[in-house]
Amino acid sequence: MKIKRLLSALLLLAVVVTPLSALCGGTLYQVSTLQALMQGDYYGAVSAGALMERGDTGLGTFDALDGEMVAVNGMVYKAAYDGSITAVGDEELSPFANVAFIGDGAAAESSFEGGYDGLLTALNFLVPDTNMPVVFRVEGSYVNVKVRSVPAQQEPYPPLTGVVKNQAVFEAAQASGVIVGFRFPAYMGDINTTGYHLHFLSNDLTFGGHLLDVESGAIQLRYNVLDEFTMTLPDSVSLYNLAETTDAEIETVEQH
Ligand SMILES: [Zn+2]
Repeated sequence: MKIKRLLSALLLLAVVVTPLSALCGGTLYQVSTLQALMQGDYYGAVSAGALMERGDTGLGTFDALDGEMVAVNGMVYKAAYDGSITAVGDEELSPFANVAFIGDGAAAESSFEGGYDGLLTALNFLVPDTNMPVVFRVEGSYVNVKVRSVPAQQEPYPPLTGVVKNQAVFEAAQASGVIVGFRFPAYMGDINTTGYHLHFLSNDLTFGGHLLDVESGAIQLRYNVLDEFTMTLPDSVSLYNLAETTDAEIETVEQH
């Protein structure tokens, strides 16, 4: 009798647990803080290989701020200052990154007009709950895509606000590719940006970087709402001295 009761209790547990785990699906992983990066902490801390153990999708940058990172389908790509796109080796280090698993996350189709804000409106409509971080992979065919990359820096590292004044901007009238990134809740504002951070990579691997603008597109969306958060804190001084970074400075760097 006891075994029977135990079995029925386990069955009940299985029924209750399944829909909950289907609703929220994973862990947001972060290396360092955006504010430490803003202050010039460009020292690589976590390898690309280690990142891909924590997620299959994401963004960030590389040691010495050497280009923009776009992680798609478990591969880490570098969109460099010279416009080249390369798949990076597992050993390449990152000073700042966010990754998460999308896997077979929820899917949706849509289209948008009206530039970057139009894209965000479409994503907000499809995923309205802003309570938790969300990882996005947005495959599509896009019009007037504008991206940027940043040049590798030499020590002593200058703050990011100074570096972006010399950023390289690349534009494509038409581009098929994938936008990857995150929407961070407002309560994460002391350790990251709030709202969206998106990077772009073309399907033919000729064009990519930090997404500055996109006019319109037809999109196939996959996303995952993340209900856990893990952060690696590098042993660096600037990480513990973040009060000087303002929201206005973050806006200057993100340019949205
Ligand atoms: Zn970026």
